[in-house]
Amino acid sequence: MSDCLFCKIISGDIPSAKVYEDDLVYAFRDIAPQAPTHVLVIPKTHVASVDACDELSDQALAACLRACRTVAKLEGLENGYRVVSNCGDDACQSVKHLHFHVLGGRKMGETMA
Ligand code: AMP
Repeated sequence: MSDCLFCKIISGDIPSAKVYEDDLVYAFRDIAPQAPTHVLVIPKTHVASVDACDELSDQALAACLRACRTVAKLEGLENGYRVVSNCGDDACQSVKHLHFHVLGGRKMGETMA
């Protein structure tokens, strides 16, 4: 999608700090990290959010979750990590391209909302 920030990151039009990439997925460091490790995992196919996941192939959807685990291994998060996907306005989703936050490197809070 031409006006999507994350599509521009995938195409290289906007720079990013790549952590992992395969045929279906791209992962890069969040520009405003909220934990020592804060990586965004996104499908290369544009879909807006989890709510639009029917528009994504099962293979690509599964690849996103597998990439979250791969990122955690690459980042050495052997003590655990959190995977978050904000969906829609009530969840404060700011970029309308499906993404999974992989957060780790410190003990997370017990509340999630
Ligand atoms: P969300 O609020 O769940 O939609 O998450 C969007 C995330 O994208 C936020 O954590 C932002 O810090 C992050 N972000 C926005 N622009 C960039 C960028 N150019 N490079 C890396 N991360 C970004």
